[in-house]
Amino acid sequence: MNKALVRLMAGFRRFKEKYFQEELENSIYRRLASSGQTPKTFLIGCSDSRVDPAILTGALPGELFVVRNVANLVPPCEPSAVGFHGTSSALEFAVVNLKVENIIILGHRQCGGIRALMRGPQENPDSFVSQWMNIAKDARKVVMQEHGNEDEETRIRYAEMESIKVSLRNLMTFPFVREAVESGQLSCIGVYFDLEEGELWEFDQDTNKFRQLELTRHGVT
Ligand SMILES: [Zn+2]
Repeated sequence: MNKALVRLMAGFRRFKEKYFQEELENSIYRRLASSGQTPKTFLIGCSDSRVDPAILTGALPGELFVVRNVANLVPPCEPSAVGFHGTSSALEFAVVNLKVENIIILGHRQCGGIRALMRGPQENPDSFVSQWMNIAKDARKVVMQEHGNEDEETRIRYAEMESIKVSLRNLMTFPFVREAVESGQLSCIGVYFDLEEGELWEFDQDTNKFRQLELTRHGVT
């Protein structure tokens, strides 16, 4: 049998022992299977294998509705009839059908998509990644204007954070998101995971800056 599948099955056996306990009438999956999912949070994360939202947050099954794409980007609202819109359709389902209360955009350090964006599209401008990363081209522009003299790694780090701000702005171009935010039913949050330092940063709309979250035993300050 394929080695990756063997490993996957071993993991699935542990998962099943934990969440499908036959003797427990109210085991997590019995409940989720009979009453359906009611996640309160929609998370947009990167496809990067080191940034799995459920592992990072210890979320239980049913807690997070997630879409992952290259560089955790939210595209602007575009006509649904043209092209295919994976992230936009997940967003629509989360807000309109599931009526989530929070949207979290989870960016991260060492993002390959952002690195490609900062190196410019000259390598392969027609590739899917280059086209996709155009969503964040304003982030590149801002960083080159404000931090053009910094070294490449520092510029990439700024761009990783700046692109979260672009995605937060793009969220508001979807009428159903704007409406839910304006009526106080939905919050949009930008978070940055520094995987080198093991730190979380939150975007503060008031100061327009990221601030490091201090982790305590019971949560966050
Ligand atoms: Zn990434």
